[in-house]
Amino acid sequence: MKIINGPWPVDKGNKKPAYFGLFYCPKCKTNVVKQTSNGKVSKTCGCGRHDHKKKHGACVGYKDTKLYKVWSGIRSRCRNKNNQRYKHYGGRGIAFCEEWQKYEPFRDWALLNGYKEYLSIDRRNNDGNYTPENCRFITLTDNNRNKKNNVLSIKKAEKIRSIYAEGEHSQRELAKMFGVHQWRIWKVLKNEIWVTD
Ligand SMILES: [Zn+2]
Repeated sequence: MKIINGPWPVDKGNKKPAYFGLFYCPKCKTNVVKQTSNGKVSKTCGCGRHDHKKKHGACVGYKDTKLYKVWSGIRSRCRNKNNQRYKHYGGRGIAFCEEWQKYEPFRDWALLNGYKEYLSIDRRNNDGNYTPENCRFITLTDNNRNKKNNVLSIKKAEKIRSIYAEGEHSQRELAKMFGVHQWRIWKVLKNEIWVTD
């Protein structure tokens, strides 16, 4: 089978290493999530066998993957009132969509939509829910930039002032360049505000 996304490690402690990922099976011509040991990929998904109905459940041990932790983290932030960050998520009405109440649909969506272990999940609209439409995987820097209380370091504030002083960029353009609201640029230029990292 051809690897489409992955393989990503399954953390099994000292046991034999295992990986999971999204594969394309040339026999039944479908994308299949599978777990493999030692990185060996079989020729087909097992669709020739009697147990082919099981193929979507074939990814055992998924709780030991980083992606599962991503999923359970979101679920907890949105639904568990005892979660320390609940107030920023469930507490302010951010919901975890019906479709993703089970892990498997979330996993399959993630693998088909650019999931990488080093990326973090981001909501396009910060006030929107965790849904397939509103979510994407981005680098952590992008994610920080998109946070509601986005901050600018003193270094960045200085850079904004020096770029603006050169006169080639408007406040509006600077806001775009640094991924912040225009009012923040305005405040920075007035020396009224800067926030440390
Ligand atoms: Zn197959």
